[in-house]
Amino acid sequence: MAKIGFIGLGAMGLCMARNLIKNGHEVIGFDFSEEAMDAHVENGGGIAFSAAEASVKANFAITMLPNGDAVKQAILGPNGVVEKLPKDSLFIDMSTIHPLETDQIRQNLRAQSVSMVDAPVGRTSVEAEKGASLFMVGAEKCDFKAVQPILACMGDTFIDCGGPGTGSRMKIVNNLMTTTLNVLTAEVLTFSDATGLDRNVALEVMGGTAAGRGHMSTTYPSKVLRGDLEPAFMIDLAKKDLDIAIKFSEALGVPISLAIQAEEIYANAQEDGRGRQDWTAIFDMLQKQQLPKP
Ligand code: NAD
Repeated sequence: MAKIGFIGLGAMGLCMARNLIKNGHEVIGFDFSEEAMDAHVENGGGIAFSAAEASVKANFAITMLPNGDAVKQAILGPNGVVEKLPKDSLFIDMSTIHPLETDQIRQNLRAQSVSMVDAPVGRTSVEAEKGASLFMVGAEKCDFKAVQPILACMGDTFIDCGGPGTGSRMKIVNNLMTTTLNVLTAEVLTFSDATGLDRNVALEVMGGTAAGRGHMSTTYPSKVLRGDLEPAFMIDLAKKDLDIAIKFSEALGVPISLAIQAEEIYANAQEDGRGRQDWTAIFDMLQKQQLPKP
């Protein structure tokens, strides 16, 4: 069984630490909040009064902190993990932070011969509580293997995202999608309510089309990612429908702000001569316009 220093016993960290304890590990916690430390002790954990102290003789140090500054402070700051973590031990950051901060922390640790794994978490505290989190892991192959038994106490899915730093990148990409889709979903259902439609009817209809099922699991695998621009549904038609929705929303007095930004992109596609291409030409256009040239 491993000795683990666990820094950050909040909504996520506290129950993740508890799942490590349940699996027989010795978990020494540290958090600024006394209440969090008390709760960790009640769960059977030990406590330390600094991140450094929590890492003494630890096989793993884990951080589950709100942001990059907190991670840097806990790892590299005074009384930070790096002061005491043995050199052959591993540091796992499960927080969601800026990927360039992940790279910077890894570089600093490398200079001190400490290896780092970025393993941010998919799903919410509800799944963390049940030990059913998903981990997006950025690590050297050997480190990925070494952390799996530890992550397995807290989650049921671990995806090797492709090397150091990729877990942190994947998490931001994933959350860009979920957070933006959440706003779009809220806007669309508010607009739908304003039109007088029954909410359940709207959910049933959209659950049967790409609107609700999502492009990533429908049009992208079947057409877009194959580079198939043959029109099944054209840019011109998509733009016409979006224009109607925007005009209708104005008549109803219900703003749909994401739709206005999307409309600009469809208009760009028309200007780019793509009006008669499949509406999924948007992906082709953004790839060509926005990715740096090799
Ligand atoms: P939280 O605010 O509930 O917990 C953070 C804890 O860290 C607090 O108890 C705080 O006192 C402590 N803390 C802050 N700075 C510290 C430091 N320097 N040293 C020691 N302790 C410190 O946050 P959370 O919901 O547990 O989220 C933690 C991370 O997990 C965030 O990066 C978040 O984006 C990510 N995340 C959260 C969820 C979720 O559903 N809550 C899901 C996936 C990922």
